[in-house]
Amino acid sequence: MADKSSNPLSDPKRRKAQTMLVHGGMERSQHGETSEAIFFNSGFVYPTSGAAEARFKGEEPGHIYSRFSNPTVEMFQQRAALLEGAEAARGTATGMAAVTTAIMSQVKAGDHIVAARALFGGCRFVVETYMPRWGVESTLVDGRDPENFARAMKPNTKVVFVETPTNPTLELVDLKAVADIAHAHGAVLIVDNVFSTPIWQKPLELGADLVTYSATKHMDGQGRALGGVILGSQELIGGDVHTIIRQTGPSMSPFNAWVLLKGLETLSIRVKAMTESAGKIADFLADHPKIEMLSYPHHASHPQYDLAKRQMSGGSTLVAFTPKGGKAAAFRLADALALIAISNNLGDAKSIISHPATTTHQRFTDAERAEMDITEGLLRLSVGLEDADDLLADLSFALDQV
Ligand SMILES: *Cc1c(COP(=O)(O)O)cnc(C)c1O
Repeated sequence: MADKSSNPLSDPKRRKAQTMLVHGGMERSQHGETSEAIFFNSGFVYPTSGAAEARFKGEEPGHIYSRFSNPTVEMFQQRAALLEGAEAARGTATGMAAVTTAIMSQVKAGDHIVAARALFGGCRFVVETYMPRWGVESTLVDGRDPENFARAMKPNTKVVFVETPTNPTLELVDLKAVADIAHAHGAVLIVDNVFSTPIWQKPLELGADLVTYSATKHMDGQGRALGGVILGSQELIGGDVHTIIRQTGPSMSPFNAWVLLKGLETLSIRVKAMTESAGKIADFLADHPKIEMLSYPHHASHPQYDLAKRQMSGGSTLVAFTPKGGKAAAFRLADALALIAISNNLGDAKSIISHPATTTHQRFTDAERAEMDITEGLLRLSVGLEDADDLLADLSFALDQV
Protein backbone atom coordinates (compact mmCIF):
# COMPACT_ATOMS: atom_id res chain seq x y z
CA MET A 1 0.00 0.00 0.00
CA ALA A 2 1.22 3.49 -0.80
CA ASP A 3 2.50 5.28 2.26
CA LYS A 4 3.56 8.90 2.08
CA SER A 5 4.83 9.09 5.65
CA SER A 6 8.23 7.86 4.43
CA ASN A 7 8.18 10.33 1.52
CA PRO A 8 10.82 12.98 2.34
CA LEU A 9 8.51 15.69 1.04
CA SER A 10 6.05 14.93 3.86
CA ASP A 11 8.46 16.91 6.04
CA PRO A 12 7.68 20.61 5.35
CA LYS A 13 11.28 21.59 6.18
CA ARG A 14 12.63 19.48 3.31
CA ARG A 15 10.66 21.37 0.71
CA LYS A 16 12.26 24.11 -1.36
CA ALA A 17 11.46 27.74 -0.67
CA GLN A 18 8.95 28.20 -3.49
CA THR A 19 7.10 25.04 -2.44
CA MET A 20 6.91 26.27 1.16
CA LEU A 21 5.46 29.54 -0.07
CA VAL A 22 2.57 27.63 -1.66
CA HIS A 23 2.00 24.87 0.92
CA GLY A 24 3.71 26.02 4.13
CA GLY A 25 1.51 26.15 7.21
CA MET A 26 -1.54 24.81 5.35
CA GLU A 27 -4.06 23.34 7.77
CA ARG A 28 -7.20 21.99 6.17
CA SER A 29 -10.47 21.79 8.03
CA GLN A 30 -12.74 18.74 7.92
CA HIS A 31 -14.16 20.12 4.65
CA GLY A 32 -10.92 19.62 2.75
CA GLU A 33 -10.91 23.05 1.09
CA THR A 34 -8.19 23.62 -1.58
CA SER A 35 -7.37 27.20 -0.60
CA GLU A 36 -6.68 28.22 2.98
CA ALA A 37 -9.87 28.92 4.92
CA ILE A 38 -10.61 32.26 6.54
CA PHE A 39 -11.47 31.66 10.18
CA PHE A 40 -13.14 35.00 10.62
CA ASN A 41 -14.08 34.59 14.26
CA SER A 42 -13.07 36.33 17.45
CA GLY A 43 -13.57 33.50 19.95
CA PHE A 44 -13.64 29.69 20.27
CA VAL A 45 -15.91 27.31 22.15
CA TYR A 46 -14.89 24.47 24.45
CA PRO A 47 -16.65 21.10 24.77
CA THR A 48 -16.63 21.31 28.59
CA SER A 49 -15.67 23.69 31.42
CA GLY A 50 -12.78 21.37 32.20
CA ALA A 51 -11.52 21.72 28.61
CA ALA A 52 -11.69 25.51 28.92
CA GLU A 53 -9.74 25.34 32.16
CA ALA A 54 -7.08 23.10 30.62
CA ARG A 55 -6.70 25.36 27.60
CA PHE A 56 -6.32 28.50 29.72
CA LYS A 57 -3.72 26.70 31.86
CA GLY A 58 -1.84 25.79 28.68
CA GLU A 59 -2.23 22.09 29.46
CA GLU A 60 -4.11 21.43 26.22
CA PRO A 61 -3.42 22.94 22.81
CA GLY A 62 -6.04 25.02 21.04
CA HIS A 63 -7.14 28.54 20.37
CA ILE A 64 -8.71 30.77 23.01
CA TYR A 65 -9.25 34.19 21.47
CA SER A 66 -8.19 35.71 18.14
CA ARG A 67 -6.29 38.56 19.79
CA PHE A 68 -3.56 36.02 20.57
CA SER A 69 -4.12 33.17 18.13
CA ASN A 70 -6.34 32.26 15.21
CA PRO A 71 -6.08 29.40 12.69
CA THR A 72 -5.74 31.61 9.59
CA VAL A 73 -3.23 33.92 11.28
CA GLU A 74 -1.31 30.82 12.38
CA MET A 75 -1.14 29.52 8.81
CA PHE A 76 0.34 32.87 7.76
CA GLN A 77 2.83 32.81 10.65
CA GLN A 78 4.00 29.29 9.87
CA ARG A 79 4.42 30.00 6.17
CA ALA A 80 6.41 33.17 6.90
CA ALA A 81 8.58 31.31 9.45
CA LEU A 82 9.35 28.51 6.96
CA LEU A 83 10.37 31.06 4.34
CA GLU A 84 12.60 32.97 6.76
CA GLY A 85 14.08 29.84 8.34
CA ALA A 86 12.83 31.06 11.72
CA GLU A 87 11.62 28.89 14.59
CA ALA A 88 8.58 31.08 15.18
CA ALA A 89 6.63 34.10 13.94
CA ARG A 90 3.81 36.38 15.04
CA GLY A 91 1.59 38.38 12.72
CA THR A 92 0.68 41.97 13.60
CA ALA A 93 -1.83 44.53 12.34
CA THR A 94 0.80 46.61 10.49
CA GLY A 95 4.51 46.79 9.89
CA MET A 96 4.80 49.53 12.50
CA ALA A 97 3.07 47.27 15.05
CA ALA A 98 5.70 44.63 14.26
CA VAL A 99 8.63 47.04 14.74
CA THR A 100 7.18 48.62 17.91
CA THR A 101 6.30 45.25 19.44
CA ALA A 102 9.71 43.77 18.60
CA ILE A 103 11.56 46.71 20.21
CA MET A 104 9.23 46.93 23.23
CA SER A 105 9.69 43.21 23.86
CA GLN A 106 13.42 43.73 24.51
CA VAL A 107 13.62 46.94 26.58
CA LYS A 108 12.43 48.52 29.82
CA ALA A 109 12.96 51.97 31.38
CA GLY A 110 16.66 52.62 31.94
CA ASP A 111 17.77 50.69 28.84
CA HIS A 112 19.39 52.10 25.70
CA ILE A 113 18.91 51.50 21.97
CA VAL A 114 21.43 52.06 19.20
CA ALA A 115 19.93 52.47 15.72
CA ALA A 116 21.05 53.51 12.28
CA ARG A 117 19.72 57.00 11.59
CA ALA A 118 18.56 56.20 8.05
CA LEU A 119 15.25 54.54 8.91
CA PHE A 120 11.69 54.41 7.64
CA GLY A 121 9.96 57.49 9.13
CA GLY A 122 7.75 55.62 11.62
CA CYS A 123 10.64 53.44 12.82
CA ARG A 124 12.79 56.50 13.44
CA PHE A 125 9.94 58.15 15.38
CA VAL A 126 9.57 55.10 17.64
CA VAL A 127 13.29 54.90 18.40
CA GLU A 128 14.13 58.61 18.54
CA THR A 129 10.99 60.19 20.02
CA TYR A 130 8.67 57.62 21.49
CA MET A 131 10.99 55.25 23.36
CA PRO A 132 12.71 58.09 25.31
CA ARG A 133 9.27 59.09 26.65
CA TRP A 134 9.21 55.76 28.46
CA GLY A 135 12.74 56.09 29.79
CA VAL A 136 14.52 54.18 27.02
CA GLU A 137 17.21 56.42 25.54
CA SER A 138 18.52 55.99 22.03
CA THR A 139 21.56 56.89 19.95
CA LEU A 140 21.31 57.20 16.18
CA VAL A 141 24.43 56.57 14.10
CA ASP A 142 25.50 56.54 10.46
CA GLY A 143 24.86 52.86 9.74
CA ARG A 144 27.27 52.50 6.83
CA ASP A 145 30.27 51.97 9.12
CA PRO A 146 29.88 49.19 11.75
CA GLU A 147 32.43 50.99 13.95
CA ASN A 148 29.81 53.68 14.58
CA PHE A 149 27.63 51.07 16.32
CA ALA A 150 30.58 49.83 18.41
CA ARG A 151 31.31 53.39 19.57
CA ALA A 152 27.68 54.03 20.54
CA MET A 153 27.22 50.89 22.66
CA LYS A 154 26.73 51.42 26.41
CA PRO A 155 26.51 48.98 29.31
CA ASN A 156 22.70 49.37 29.23
CA THR A 157 22.31 48.92 25.45
CA LYS A 158 19.75 46.16 24.95
CA VAL A 159 18.75 46.61 21.30
CA VAL A 160 20.49 47.45 18.06
CA PHE A 161 17.95 48.28 15.36
CA VAL A 162 18.68 48.62 11.64
CA GLU A 163 17.10 48.49 8.25
CA THR A 164 19.09 47.52 5.13
CA PRO A 165 18.93 48.64 2.39
CA THR A 166 17.71 51.84 3.98
CA ASN A 167 14.71 53.89 2.99
CA PRO A 168 14.88 55.85 0.73
CA THR A 169 18.55 56.02 -0.33
CA LEU A 170 19.33 52.27 -0.38
CA GLU A 171 22.44 52.49 1.76
CA LEU A 172 23.52 49.24 3.41
CA VAL A 173 24.33 48.09 6.92
CA ASP A 174 26.77 45.18 7.31
CA LEU A 175 24.49 42.81 9.23
CA LYS A 176 27.10 40.25 10.23
CA ALA A 177 29.48 42.89 11.59
CA VAL A 178 26.71 44.70 13.48
CA ALA A 179 25.31 41.42 14.88
CA ASP A 180 28.77 40.59 16.28
CA ILE A 181 29.02 44.04 17.90
CA ALA A 182 25.53 43.77 19.41
CA HIS A 183 26.17 40.29 20.81
CA ALA A 184 29.58 41.25 22.24
CA HIS A 185 27.69 43.83 24.33
CA GLY A 186 24.83 41.51 25.30
CA ALA A 187 22.29 43.29 23.06
CA VAL A 188 19.92 41.80 20.48
CA LEU A 189 19.94 42.83 16.82
CA ILE A 190 16.54 43.62 15.31
CA VAL A 191 16.42 43.99 11.52
CA ASP A 192 13.61 45.56 9.53
CA ASN A 193 14.04 43.54 6.32
CA VAL A 194 11.32 45.13 4.18
CA PHE A 195 13.57 46.67 1.54
CA SER A 196 15.49 43.51 0.67
CA THR A 197 12.57 41.09 1.20
CA PRO A 198 13.05 37.56 2.60
CA ILE A 199 13.78 36.42 -0.95
CA TRP A 200 17.10 38.30 -1.21
CA GLN A 201 18.36 38.56 2.37
CA LYS A 202 18.19 36.30 5.45
CA PRO A 203 19.15 38.40 8.50
CA LEU A 204 18.76 35.46 10.93
CA GLU A 205 21.51 33.58 9.08
CA LEU A 206 23.74 36.65 9.39
CA GLY A 207 23.23 36.86 13.17
CA ALA A 208 20.06 38.91 13.68
CA ASP A 209 17.88 37.91 16.65
CA LEU A 210 14.54 39.29 15.44
CA VAL A 211 13.42 40.20 11.92
CA THR A 212 10.41 42.37 11.16
CA TYR A 213 8.43 43.04 8.00
CA SER A 214 5.73 45.34 6.88
CA ALA A 215 3.70 42.62 5.12
CA THR A 216 1.81 45.53 3.54
CA LYS A 217 4.71 45.83 1.10
CA HIS A 218 5.96 42.89 -0.99
CA MET A 219 4.08 40.15 0.92
CA ASP A 220 0.73 41.59 -0.09
CA GLY A 221 2.29 43.45 -2.97
CA GLN A 222 -1.06 44.25 -4.51
CA GLY A 223 -2.11 47.28 -2.49
CA ARG A 224 -4.88 45.56 -0.55
CA ALA A 225 -4.04 44.89 3.08
CA LEU A 226 -1.97 46.16 6.00
CA GLY A 227 0.01 43.67 8.02
CA GLY A 228 3.28 42.91 9.76
CA VAL A 229 5.25 39.95 11.01
CA ILE A 230 8.00 39.38 13.61
CA LEU A 231 10.28 36.34 13.26
CA GLY A 232 12.95 34.77 15.44
CA SER A 233 13.68 32.02 17.94
CA GLN A 234 10.90 30.24 19.80
CA GLU A 235 12.37 31.70 23.00
CA LEU A 236 12.06 35.35 21.93
CA ILE A 237 8.86 35.04 19.88
CA GLY A 238 7.02 32.62 22.18
CA GLY A 239 8.15 34.67 25.20
CA ASP A 240 8.05 38.46 25.37
CA VAL A 241 6.84 39.07 21.80
CA HIS A 242 3.84 36.78 22.27
CA THR A 243 3.07 38.26 25.68
CA ILE A 244 3.00 41.83 24.35
CA ILE A 245 0.71 40.88 21.47
CA ARG A 246 -1.54 38.88 23.77
CA GLN A 247 -1.78 41.59 26.42
CA THR A 248 -1.75 44.79 24.34
CA GLY A 249 -3.45 43.66 21.12
CA PRO A 250 -1.57 44.83 17.98
CA SER A 251 -2.96 41.64 16.43
CA MET A 252 -3.38 40.67 12.79
CA SER A 253 -6.89 40.35 11.40
CA PRO A 254 -7.71 36.83 10.08
CA PHE A 255 -8.91 38.37 6.83
CA ASN A 256 -5.63 40.20 6.33
CA ALA A 257 -3.76 37.00 7.23
CA TRP A 258 -5.66 35.24 4.44
CA VAL A 259 -4.87 37.98 1.89
CA LEU A 260 -1.21 37.81 2.93
CA LEU A 261 -1.14 33.99 2.74
CA LYS A 262 -2.23 34.25 -0.88
CA GLY A 263 0.37 37.00 -1.35
CA LEU A 264 3.13 34.71 -0.05
CA GLU A 265 2.26 32.09 -2.70
CA THR A 266 3.48 34.44 -5.42
CA LEU A 267 6.01 36.49 -3.40
CA SER A 268 9.15 34.96 -4.83
CA ILE A 269 7.92 35.07 -8.44
CA ARG A 270 6.86 38.70 -8.08
CA VAL A 271 10.03 39.85 -6.29
CA LYS A 272 12.25 38.15 -8.87
CA ALA A 273 10.38 39.73 -11.81
CA MET A 274 10.36 43.16 -10.16
CA THR A 275 14.08 42.91 -9.34
CA GLU A 276 14.92 41.95 -12.92
CA SER A 277 13.12 45.06 -14.18
CA ALA A 278 14.73 47.19 -11.44
CA GLY A 279 18.17 46.02 -12.60
CA LYS A 280 17.36 47.06 -16.18
CA ILE A 281 16.11 50.45 -14.98
CA ALA A 282 19.27 50.96 -12.87
CA ASP A 283 21.44 50.21 -15.93
CA PHE A 284 19.40 52.66 -18.02
CA LEU A 285 19.59 55.45 -15.42
CA ALA A 286 23.30 54.90 -14.73
CA ASP A 287 24.12 55.79 -18.34
CA HIS A 288 21.61 58.62 -18.74
CA PRO A 289 23.14 62.11 -19.12
CA LYS A 290 20.38 63.77 -17.05
CA ILE A 291 21.00 61.61 -13.97
CA GLU A 292 23.20 62.98 -11.21
CA MET A 293 23.03 60.10 -8.73
CA LEU A 294 21.90 56.48 -8.84
CA SER A 295 21.69 54.10 -5.88
CA TYR A 296 21.01 50.45 -6.64
CA PRO A 297 22.64 47.78 -4.44
CA HIS A 298 23.61 45.39 -7.24
CA HIS A 299 24.84 48.11 -9.62
CA ALA A 300 28.65 48.33 -9.67
CA SER A 301 28.42 52.08 -8.95
CA HIS A 302 26.92 51.49 -5.46
CA PRO A 303 29.49 52.57 -2.81
CA GLN A 304 28.85 49.33 -0.91
CA TYR A 305 28.61 47.06 -3.95
CA ASP A 306 30.86 44.34 -2.46
CA LEU A 307 28.77 44.18 0.70
CA ALA A 308 25.58 44.14 -1.39
CA LYS A 309 26.85 41.14 -3.36
CA ARG A 310 27.89 39.34 -0.16
CA GLN A 311 24.80 40.06 1.90
CA MET A 312 21.97 40.11 -0.64
CA SER A 313 21.41 37.39 -3.22
CA GLY A 314 19.43 39.81 -5.41
CA GLY A 315 19.48 43.57 -6.03
CA SER A 316 16.29 45.18 -4.86
CA THR A 317 12.88 46.03 -6.25
CA LEU A 318 13.67 49.69 -5.45
CA VAL A 319 15.87 52.18 -7.25
CA ALA A 320 16.86 55.59 -5.84
CA PHE A 321 18.06 58.32 -8.16
CA THR A 322 18.40 62.08 -8.59
CA PRO A 323 17.91 63.89 -11.87
CA LYS A 324 20.12 66.93 -12.46
CA GLY A 325 18.23 70.11 -11.52
CA GLY A 326 17.05 69.51 -7.96
CA LYS A 327 13.43 69.55 -6.80
CA ALA A 328 12.06 71.20 -9.96
CA ALA A 329 13.57 68.50 -12.14
CA ALA A 330 12.33 65.72 -9.85
CA PHE A 331 8.78 67.13 -9.91
CA ARG A 332 8.84 67.59 -13.72
CA LEU A 333 10.03 64.03 -14.16
CA ALA A 334 7.44 62.49 -11.84
CA ASP A 335 4.62 64.61 -13.28
CA ALA A 336 5.43 63.50 -16.84
CA LEU A 337 5.09 59.77 -16.07
CA ALA A 338 2.02 58.09 -17.57
CA LEU A 339 2.39 54.62 -16.08
CA ILE A 340 4.40 54.97 -12.90
CA ALA A 341 2.15 56.44 -10.19
CA ILE A 342 3.07 59.11 -7.65
CA SER A 343 2.49 57.41 -4.31
CA ASN A 344 4.38 56.44 -1.18
CA ASN A 345 3.77 52.70 -0.95
CA LEU A 346 6.33 50.23 -2.20
CA GLY A 347 6.70 46.60 -3.19
CA ASP A 348 3.47 46.82 -5.19
CA ALA A 349 2.62 45.22 -8.55
CA LYS A 350 2.07 48.76 -9.75
CA SER A 351 5.21 50.88 -10.13
CA ILE A 352 5.33 53.83 -7.77
CA ILE A 353 7.55 56.90 -7.55
CA SER A 354 7.94 59.15 -4.53
CA HIS A 355 9.76 62.36 -3.65
CA PRO A 356 10.93 61.68 -0.06
CA ALA A 357 12.00 65.26 0.80
CA THR A 358 8.44 66.60 0.41
CA THR A 359 6.45 63.53 1.52
CA THR A 360 7.72 60.68 3.72
CA HIS A 361 10.65 62.70 5.09
CA GLN A 362 8.99 66.13 5.09
CA ARG A 363 8.89 66.45 8.89
CA PHE A 364 12.69 66.31 9.24
CA THR A 365 14.82 69.46 9.25
CA ASP A 366 17.08 70.27 6.30
CA ALA A 367 20.07 69.23 8.42
CA GLU A 368 18.49 65.90 9.32
CA ARG A 369 17.65 65.19 5.68
CA ALA A 370 21.20 66.11 4.69
CA GLU A 371 22.55 63.64 7.26
CA MET A 372 20.45 60.92 5.60
CA ASP A 373 21.51 62.01 2.05
CA ILE A 374 17.90 62.88 1.21
CA THR A 375 18.51 65.65 -1.30
CA GLU A 376 15.90 67.98 -2.83
CA GLY A 377 16.05 66.06 -6.11
CA LEU A 378 16.00 62.50 -4.77
CA LEU A 379 13.33 60.16 -6.17
CA ARG A 380 12.55 56.65 -4.96
CA LEU A 381 11.14 54.25 -7.51
CA SER A 382 9.40 51.03 -6.49
CA VAL A 383 9.46 48.84 -9.57
CA GLY A 384 6.29 46.86 -10.24
CA LEU A 385 5.21 44.05 -12.49
CA GLU A 386 4.53 46.00 -15.68
CA ASP A 387 6.51 45.11 -18.82
CA ALA A 388 10.04 46.44 -18.26
CA ASP A 389 10.11 47.99 -21.75
CA ASP A 390 7.04 50.09 -20.90
CA LEU A 391 8.64 51.24 -17.65
CA LEU A 392 11.85 52.20 -19.47
CA ALA A 393 9.85 54.08 -22.12
CA ASP A 394 7.87 55.91 -19.42
CA LEU A 395 11.06 56.99 -17.62
CA SER A 396 12.80 57.89 -20.86
CA PHE A 397 9.92 60.16 -21.93
CA ALA A 398 9.78 61.81 -18.51
CA LEU A 399 13.54 62.42 -18.44
CA ASP A 400 13.27 64.12 -21.83
CA GLN A 401 10.86 66.64 -20.24
CA VAL A 402 13.39 67.61 -17.56
C1 LIG B 1 6.22 50.49 5.29
C2 LIG B 1 7.34 50.22 6.20
C3 LIG B 1 7.14 50.07 7.57
C4 LIG B 1 5.77 50.24 8.20
O1 LIG B 1 4.85 49.32 7.73
P1 LIG B 1 3.25 49.57 7.78
O2 LIG B 1 2.69 48.27 7.33
O3 LIG B 1 2.97 50.70 6.84
O4 LIG B 1 2.92 49.91 9.18
C5 LIG B 1 8.23 49.82 8.37
N1 LIG B 1 9.47 49.70 7.86
C6 LIG B 1 9.72 49.83 6.53
C7 LIG B 1 11.10 49.71 6.04
C8 LIG B 1 8.66 50.09 5.66
O5 LIG B 1 8.90 50.22 4.37
